[in-house]
Amino acid sequence: MKFELSPLPYAKGALSPYLSEETLGLHHEKHHLTYLNNLKNLLQGKPEADNSLEEIVKTSSGAVFNNAAQVWNHNFYWQSMKPQGGGEPEGKLAQAIARDFGSFAAFSAQFASAAVAQFGAGWAWLVSEKGHLKIATTSNADTPLQQGLQCLLTCDVWEHAYYVDYRNLRAKYVETFLKHLANWAFASKQLEGSLLSG
Ligand code: MN
Repeated sequence: MKFELSPLPYAKGALSPYLSEETLGLHHEKHHLTYLNNLKNLLQGKPEADNSLEEIVKTSSGAVFNNAAQVWNHNFYWQSMKPQGGGEPEGKLAQAIARDFGSFAAFSAQFASAAVAQFGAGWAWLVSEKGHLKIATTSNADTPLQQGLQCLLTCDVWEHAYYVDYRNLRAKYVETFLKHLANWAFASKQLEGSLLSG
C-alpha cells in the first residue's frame, strides 16, 4: 500500500457551520494522520506493507488492525459527508431503505438512536448484507469491512469527531450529520458496486 494521507474530498472549511474547519483540521491532520503514521511504523520492513489497505484490515489483528482499520474507516467517513449533503437518497438506495426500514424517516430514527447508544468510542454504519440493508455499530476501530459486510455510509461517533463543535451533545451531531452532511450519492455508489459484484 502507499502510505499517504488521502486528501479530504472537499475543502477543510466546506462542512462549516455543521462541522467547523477546526474540527476537520484536527480530525484529518492529527487523528487520521496519527493512525496512518502508526501503521507505517508497525509495517516497516514487513511483507504486509505491500498489501492493499483493505487486505490489511481484513487479515490483521492487534495494533496493526486498529490503525489500519482506523485509516480505512476515516477514508470512508470523509466520503460519507459532503457540503450541502443530507436530504434523502434517490433511486435504488431509496427503494432499498423503504423496503428494509419501512421509510426513510424510520431509517433515520433507527440510525440516530444506534449512533447515540454506541457506548464510548465507535462508529455507526449503514451496511448491506447480501443486498439487505442494516444498521450496524462498531466499537473503537472495529469495522463491518472485516465482517464481510458492504459499507454504504458511516458516522464517526468518537468524541474527537464532534466535541469541539457539539461538546457532549452527540445526538445533535448525529442529527446534523443526517440532515446536512450525509452523502447519499456516495452511499448509492457503494450499493450499486455491491449489487454488481453479487
Ligand atoms: Mn475519527
